[in-house]
Amino acid sequence: MEKKCSECGQTKPLTEFYKNSTCVGGYRHECKKCTVKNQMNPRDHPKERRKPKILAIEEEFDEPFADIVKGFALMGYSRNSVAMILEISHGYFNHLCRSMDLNKHFKKRTEWRKECRGNVTNHPKKSDEYYLNFVRQYPERLLFHEKAPVGLRSIQRRFGGFTEAKRLAGVI
Ligand SMILES: [Zn+2]
Repeated sequence: MEKKCSECGQTKPLTEFYKNSTCVGGYRHECKKCTVKNQMNPRDHPKERRKPKILAIEEEFDEPFADIVKGFALMGYSRNSVAMILEISHGYFNHLCRSMDLNKHFKKRTEWRKECRGNVTNHPKKSDEYYLNFVRQYPERLLFHEKAPVGLRSIQRRFGGFTEAKRLAGVI
C-alpha cells in the first residue's frame, strides 16, 4: 500500500505515514518526514530533532513526538512524569518542550494548586500562608512553641525568623 504525501507530493509506502484515526484512511495526509518538519521549530537544527532516542519513541508509539507528548499532557500527566515515562532526562525534555512549543498543552502550576486546594493537609509542600496563619493565631514565640502544630525552626527556615514571620503575617 502506498500513499501520496499532501506536502511533498511524493508517493511513499504507508509505513512512511503516521497513523491517525481522525484522518480518512487512518493515516496522516503528510508523510513522516514532512510531519516532523512541520512540527519542528525553524530555529532548531534538524539533526537535534532527529536524535535516535526521539526516533525510537516515535517508532514505539507510531506517532510524532509532539503528538505523544500532547496526548500525555491532555491525560493530565505532568512534564516530569512524561519525561520519566519516555525515559528522557528532565532537562532534555524541557528543552524539547520549549523548542517544539509543547508547554502550552500542560496544566499550569496555578491550575494544579487550585485542584489541590481543599486537600491542603495532604499537599506535600505547605504554603507560606499555612504557617503564617499559626503565627497570627499564636503571635507570641512561647505560645507558638507550645500550641502551634509546626515548629519554630520551620518558621525560621522559611521566613528568616519569628519576627520576620510576624511582619509578613501582619501582626506587627
Ligand atoms: Zn512528505
